[in-house]
Amino acid sequence: MPFDKLFEEQLDTLKAEGNYRYFADLTRQCGQHPRAKNHHDGETRDVTVWCSNDYLGMGQHPDVVEAMAETARACGTGAGGTRNISGTNHHHLLLERELADLHGKEAALLFTSGYVSNWAALSTLGSRLPNAVILSDALNHASMIEGIRHSRADKVIWKHNDPEDLDRKLARLPANTTKIVAFESVYSMDGDIAPIREIVEVAEKHGAMTYLDEVHAVGMYGPRGGGVAERDGLMDRITLIEGTLGKAFGVMGGYITGSAALCDFIRSFASGFIFTTALPPAVASAATVSIRHLKASEIERAQQRRQVARLRARLDAEGIPHVRNPSHIIPVMVKDPVKCRMLSDYLMDQFGIYVQPINYPTVPKGTERLRFTPGPNHTDADIDRLVEALSSLWRQCALARATA
Ligand code: PMP
Repeated sequence: MPFDKLFEEQLDTLKAEGNYRYFADLTRQCGQHPRAKNHHDGETRDVTVWCSNDYLGMGQHPDVVEAMAETARACGTGAGGTRNISGTNHHHLLLERELADLHGKEAALLFTSGYVSNWAALSTLGSRLPNAVILSDALNHASMIEGIRHSRADKVIWKHNDPEDLDRKLARLPANTTKIVAFESVYSMDGDIAPIREIVEVAEKHGAMTYLDEVHAVGMYGPRGGGVAERDGLMDRITLIEGTLGKAFGVMGGYITGSAALCDFIRSFASGFIFTTALPPAVASAATVSIRHLKASEIERAQQRRQVARLRARLDAEGIPHVRNPSHIIPVMVKDPVKCRMLSDYLMDQFGIYVQPINYPTVPKGTERLRFTPGPNHTDADIDRLVEALSSLWRQCALARATA
């Protein structure tokens, strides 16, 4: 086609840099989490998935699957419209109530994904509030960055997880600005956790709102899975908590929670909420069941923590370098895009282990990594097998080992 050359030139650059994305063609096997079938070159083989964000396997929990199937049978597939024009289903409202309760807030608002919720909420806050300035952690997710950019509000970037830098930057802002501090709890690529208490204290001192993305923490932390803010007893001090239904809850969709006025404001002005078809009712009802389950059950979280600790200990024993962080995410640093892809390919081809290489632009150049997310359904034997495979590849590729 006449324009293809324009596209291909840039794709060729990506390929030459080792940053072109190849997707694994998987069929997940319901009830056998974390097993999947991988389809490649006309062949199908069994693999163990090590990089899923269905962190607790809830996407295959029988109650969650049943809720989705039953609601699809009862209500049909799609919502039938935007939330405003015939698309609000009772299951959306039940889910919003459940989410508000999860975070101890007055209200919640659903979006079609976590990406859309960040984009829509931040672009609305930044564009509609008087003299808005958004203070954004340096490592915030692309969805927050895009929302801030789209808002055209003034943006100030503060050093990652550094409340003192935030304090200095807030102090410089004129009194008549509406200040919004945007940050995450668990950062997905390094697995570090924000000092939420200190950040909230600094924000309060300067009369700033707080916007917290708990996408990688909801369902995972806190006695009811309300996230790191719940664990640390800080939910009531955060203006807006944003989350996803697509990771630990195993379904799909995004949301914000906050005061009734805040949610009504976003509901009334956010184009990313207003002008798009609502989530299927079956998705909403499956998410509600998943959230209720994780509010009441500690079993999945406890078993997952055990497997995370076990994998870390085994990696240490073999000297495989990994990032030490307080979360459930284990990044194994390779620091080279080509080697990162090669390791991922070898793991798949030689061992039936699937872990996606994480390359630029998802992480900065030179910090390429394999990101492991052990779940409650990875067995001890899975962990042993993974570490043996990594150890043998480390030897084959002459990669540096960590010294204790
Ligand atoms: N925020 C963060 C920090 C994320 O990592 C992601 C997705 N990986 C999102 C938001 C978007 O969530 P979703 O996948 O539900 O669109």
